[in-house]
Amino acid sequence: MALLIGPECIQCAACAPECPNDAIRADQDSFVIDPSLCTECVAFYDQPRCLSLCPVECCLPDPDRAETEDVLAARAIELHPDDDELKARIDANDFPSRFRR
Ligand code: SF4
Ligand code: SF4
Repeated sequence: MALLIGPECIQCAACAPECPNDAIRADQDSFVIDPSLCTECVAFYDQPRCLSLCPVECCLPDPDRAETEDVLAARAIELHPDDDELKARIDANDFPSRFRR
C-alpha cells in the first residue's frame, strides 16, 4: 500500500530526503509520492518514514493501493539492485517492517 500526501501538506520538505526510495517530490502546491517507488519503507524502517516525521501527519496509507509485505519487499530489491545488505536482510527474513511492529 503506497502512501499518499494529503492536502494538509505545508511543503516543509522534511520527508523527501528521508525517503529510502526517492519516491517523494515537490509538485505545484504540495509534495507527492510516486506509488511505483513507495515500499512503505519495508526492509528499511519499522514504519513509513514520511508518516513518522511529517509535522502535520498528512502522509497516509492509500486504501486504493493495498499491497502485501512480500510485494513491497520485492519492490525494494528491484529499486536497489546493488544493495547487497538489503537483499541479505530480506533473504534472511530479518528486516524492519510496519507489518511486524
Ligand atoms: S512510505 Fe517510505 S518509501 Fe513510501 S514514500 Fe514514505 S518514506 Fe518513501
Ligand atoms: S513532511 Fe509532511 S508537510 Fe512536510 S513536505 Fe512532507 S508531506 Fe508535506
